[in-house]
Amino acid sequence: MDKTGARTPHDVLKGYFGYDSFRPYQEEIINDLLDGNDVFTVMHTGSGKSLCYQVPAVLLPGTCVVVSPLIALMQDQVESMRQVGIQAGFLNSMLLPQDAFEIEQAARNGGLDLLYVAPERLMTEGFLAFLKTIKICLFAIDEAHCVSQWGHDFRPEYLQLGVLSGMFPDVPRIALTATADEFTRKDIIEKLNLEKARHFLSGLDRPNISYTVDVKNNEKKQLLNFIRDRHPGESGIVYCTTRNKTEEIAGFLRENDVPAYVYHAGLDRDTRLRHQNIFLQNDGAVMVATIAFGMGINKPDIRYIAHLNLPKTLENYYQETGRAGRDGEPAEAWMIYGLQDVAVLQQMIDASRGEEEFKRIQYRKMDAMLGYCESGHCRRQVLLAYFGERLDGPCGNCDICIKGIETVDGTLAAQKALSCSFRTGQRFGVNYLIDVLLGKPAERIRNFGHDRLSVYGIGKELSAAEWRSVFRQLVAARFLKVDMENKGGLRLTSKCRPVLTGKEKFLLRKYRVADARPRESGKRAASGPGAAARSSGPHVCHEELFERLKTARYELARKQSLPAYVIFHNSTLAGFATFLPDSLAGMRSITGVGETKLEKYGEVFLEIIREYKREKDLAVLQRGED
Ligand code: ADP
Ligand code: ZN
Repeated sequence: MDKTGARTPHDVLKGYFGYDSFRPYQEEIINDLLDGNDVFTVMHTGSGKSLCYQVPAVLLPGTCVVVSPLIALMQDQVESMRQVGIQAGFLNSMLLPQDAFEIEQAARNGGLDLLYVAPERLMTEGFLAFLKTIKICLFAIDEAHCVSQWGHDFRPEYLQLGVLSGMFPDVPRIALTATADEFTRKDIIEKLNLEKARHFLSGLDRPNISYTVDVKNNEKKQLLNFIRDRHPGESGIVYCTTRNKTEEIAGFLRENDVPAYVYHAGLDRDTRLRHQNIFLQNDGAVMVATIAFGMGINKPDIRYIAHLNLPKTLENYYQETGRAGRDGEPAEAWMIYGLQDVAVLQQMIDASRGEEEFKRIQYRKMDAMLGYCESGHCRRQVLLAYFGERLDGPCGNCDICIKGIETVDGTLAAQKALSCSFRTGQRFGVNYLIDVLLGKPAERIRNFGHDRLSVYGIGKELSAAEWRSVFRQLVAARFLKVDMENKGGLRLTSKCRPVLTGKEKFLLRKYRVADARPRESGKRAASGPGAAARSSGPHVCHEELFERLKTARYELARKQSLPAYVIFHNSTLAGFATFLPDSLAGMRSITGVGETKLEKYGEVFLEIIREYKREKDLAVLQRGED
């Protein structure tokens, strides 16, 4: 029993976090850990993994040591814990020695439920010695895929975490990650000595995220339209590959009145932190970032993730898009791409200094990424299949399901495109090849004598944009390869032979350039949880009150330099504005209100609700007198 009298996982869930029921797997995992067993869990972002070690940390005597690579976020994680009344601290390189000493003392005196540490620190001799002086009840290894080279965030320090099992044989361990294919999973288990752990692999599906992939033609305009049409005033992340591009895109968005901020590793730490805080604390800020941003970002109300470049792997893509809609409300993953992106990716892989085996895997992963983009199947089915899961029917919530696609027999077009590359020597890029196919009177073509080839002008039945699509699909199908040693020229691969000789058909996807989707599926998100509450039966969410509560929350957050959602989630405020509790006891019944927060903030919000009710009653009276 802990100090508040909580005896069971359920007591902790309600008393600290204010939640009524466990999500799938949480309770089993918690009980397993309480019984002293190891656990390995792959559960999607936002599924509530952290709770699986936070609850035992409260119930078990001693400290739960949480290993996390997310140094920049430890402060927020610790603050979130303190807000619900859990004793937490962190140790990393950002802490002053005096503060670190205090945290260590607290741990020694048994006054710490949770201790967050960075892996590089954990594995130092001094620190391991310190760990021997405190009572540890549990090790939680977060972002466990970092231990695997086959994952996408390999961190060498993680490899050493394997020794924990030998050093602390009696302490249960839980490894957690949101993305790991089968290969990576095996690797994690082996490297961390988790052979005896029970596995919890929850479905990776994120049904509230709608996936869309479109062809890039004018990326700035496309992005601006997307934000304006579908997500005005909402929080989102825009991912770009290079630092320069983040600056350029953010500048462009700001010129168009979208409050955009940049984040990349080239910014100094203060600027990065400032931008991150603005993004976390404000409702409608947009972060334009390289992949340096986002790991461990817990903001629950990110409504969209926009990719202006192809991510390297589907693991990256799924993790990045998974940052949208953690609150379960509708959210969008939107990406535009072109052949140029493929060339850039290939270049990155070729230039990487990894072993051949590593490169080969990277290529395989890039193929999967391209396959996803060019596939004519439900996006979600393709994604889940990649991670080894099955979705029985099409999802109904991706661009393919919503817009449908048309395929046509593209064998002839494919043959023309392939021949064109072949006849011109397999060393030209897509623009040149299209000019040849269209029979353009370009000087360059004449100089090479390519205007005398049989392929010159044989493709006039298609537009340049359509040829572009044909070439993209040929590259995605690996019939053509971008040859980086030859300035990005397109080269034939052996795979294309059956199509060239007419033995196999080539099905082409027809693209309809930039046809807008109806807003319906994404629209509900625009009005936030208030909208969800509005539609829930006879109860009505009082929007005006909801806004006032948000303002009050903002003030409370600002005074403590905290992200707003650490005080209460939108869904909790919407609960207040729907059920209008008039006592602390009434507030307790609303999801997200635990004892500590009730004590800290209950009165403030209660007063606002009461005032609102008084005003409205008054209004009714006045109307009655008219
Ligand atoms: P993950 O670590 O899997 O990405 P988190 O642990 O950050 O997810 O949880 C996502 C959100 O869901 C958090 O705001 C958390 O408080 C909330 N949450 C977790 N478990 C529950 C539950 N049983 N009921 C309601 N909300 C929950
Ligand atoms: Zn679908």
